[in-house]
Amino acid sequence: MTVSGPTLVGTAYEAVIGLEVHSQLLTASKMFCGCSSEYAGASPNSHVCPVCLGMPGALPVLNGRAVELAVRAAHALGCAVQDISIFARKNYFYPDLPKGYQISQYDRPLATGGAVEFETAGGARRVNITRVHMEEDAGKSLHEGYADSETRTYLDFNRSGVPLIEIVTEPDLRSAADAAEFFSRLRAMLVAIGVNDGNMEEGSLRCDANVSVRPAGDQKLGVKTELKNLNSFRHVQKAIEYEIERQIDVLSGGAAVEHETRLWDAAGGRTLSMRGKEEAHDYRYFPEPDLPPLTLERAWIDEIRATLPELPDARRRRFVDQYALPSYDASVLTSSRELADYFEATAAASGNAKASSNWIMGALSAKLNDLGITLADVRLTPDRLAGLIRLIDAGTVSGPVTRDVFEKMFASDSTAAEIVEREGLARIDDQEAIVAAVREVLGANPQAVEQYRAGKQQTFGFLVGKVMKATRGKANPALVNDLLRRLLDENGS
Ligand SMILES: [Zn+2]
Repeated sequence: MTVSGPTLVGTAYEAVIGLEVHSQLLTASKMFCGCSSEYAGASPNSHVCPVCLGMPGALPVLNGRAVELAVRAAHALGCAVQDISIFARKNYFYPDLPKGYQISQYDRPLATGGAVEFETAGGARRVNITRVHMEEDAGKSLHEGYADSETRTYLDFNRSGVPLIEIVTEPDLRSAADAAEFFSRLRAMLVAIGVNDGNMEEGSLRCDANVSVRPAGDQKLGVKTELKNLNSFRHVQKAIEYEIERQIDVLSGGAAVEHETRLWDAAGGRTLSMRGKEEAHDYRYFPEPDLPPLTLERAWIDEIRATLPELPDARRRRFVDQYALPSYDASVLTSSRELADYFEATAAASGNAKASSNWIMGALSAKLNDLGITLADVRLTPDRLAGLIRLIDAGTVSGPVTRDVFEKMFASDSTAAEIVEREGLARIDDQEAIVAAVREVLGANPQAVEQYRAGKQQTFGFLVGKVMKATRGKANPALVNDLLRRLLDENGS
């Protein structure tokens, strides 16, 4: 389908984005047979049997644990879990799909409805969930790594039949950054509830994005393209950003966006046309004759909900209530369980939640970004960070010294108190020492003193800076301000 329109030069466009996320379920065995579901690292075709190789006559037997994990994820997303859902055959030919069809769910999915809510710097976001359904994964085509890879493709069926859920969102996202943030939140949630291992590089969590653009204010949706198999937050963001720009260029030039499937070429930083988009009828769905309808007891469904841990969204709300944090802080801190745990441990040990939040969202996060590491790699424990916060609150250290102590703690196993003691970084509250430093600075900067007395107030800040520098940042800033003002006024009158 194509839609053409007039050339719209200077028109403001709005992007409309929906995601389809495939999450493997953390089961020991595959979805319809007893083969190990471990596929990464195992030698090719070592975890296979007639069922997952699609041999004629082999019959599927549903893995109960997979259903349990799928229901767990559906609950966490706030979905309504259906008493009865139906497995269906999705027919298509692809070398890594030995049966010639994938067992999936179609018009009667496991769960419907639900939503994920989060805060961004740009405001609150709500992404509605259309459906969660179960399906089996395909095998893997190996295009490289063999002597004759130039001319042959090899097939590994270890992943064939590994259980998945597909989570489909409504087209509620409006920017690439929000889409990446949603995907990141979803990953954190699935990992927190023990449904997925979060290993995106190995493909246990991957995402397709449906992207279209329309003139801002229009209600009608534009023609969408589907970006396949995005397996990192960065790829999600970059691919969608590129695709939005590409579609705007196409429409601005008076042409029409093609309804197609596109691939993200990470090396080239662009999306490439892969094939025309299939419609549902191309798959000739029909109910899977080898499996009965999946019938779940309401009591069992409710029992699973009762075993869920505190979810990120509930934790975010608790952080606002319990610690009086701004909603944005709470949202950032609950973006992963590790970060939220780190914050709670720091807040408990320091007795100062807001300062804990500031240090973690500021200095500590900057470190993680700069070094490209995660919290798991960090030596600085919540206890030691709390020690610094307590020293600041007690007035032992202040000003630029605090950042210096933080840097030294981050790079060592020393406590803040040890560093302050060893390096003589304690705050100078001794009036005489500060007065001496102030006098020295005034003597050395007669011009600035003249300017201040002539009414140039900014000069005062310059002189404060000089005194702080002379005391290596250790002087009590309040005392410096006070004494500097007093001496300037005294000598001036
Ligand atoms: Zn098998």
